[in-house]
Amino acid sequence: MKSYRKELWFEVPTRRAFINITPEVNECLRESGIKEGLVLVNAMHITASVFINDDESGLHHDYEIWLEKIAPHEPVSGYRHNVGEDNADAHMKRQVMGREVVVAITDGMLDFGTWERIFYGEFDGRRRKRVLVKIIGE
Ligand code: ZN
Repeated sequence: MKSYRKELWFEVPTRRAFINITPEVNECLRESGIKEGLVLVNAMHITASVFINDDESGLHHDYEIWLEKIAPHEPVSGYRHNVGEDNADAHMKRQVMGREVVVAITDGMLDFGTWERIFYGEFDGRRRKRVLVKIIGE
């Protein structure tokens, strides 16, 4: 069995953003040389997510509105998380949007369902953060 590991780094200039990282994961898959197996992609921070959905700007806008409804950033004083920190909402948004995805690799390709793409969800940006890509297979 072959194994491949890479960390992707992101520094989002805003507090929140959704970034399509499918091209980066495809590049990892190409580098790995693995044709049949599994790829795991996970955020290495507890205020960021990796998830799969549609690359459609209206949907990303809707996510932003929905996440602000269930875990609003303001008022920061409404949260108890490490009094003085301002990112309690980011931890909750991460919890809802998830930590990782696993995608099958078939014939050297990401074996997606219709319209599936991989996204990095940033909820407390403006600093360097990492995503792990681990690929195993043959
Ligand atoms: Zn925190």
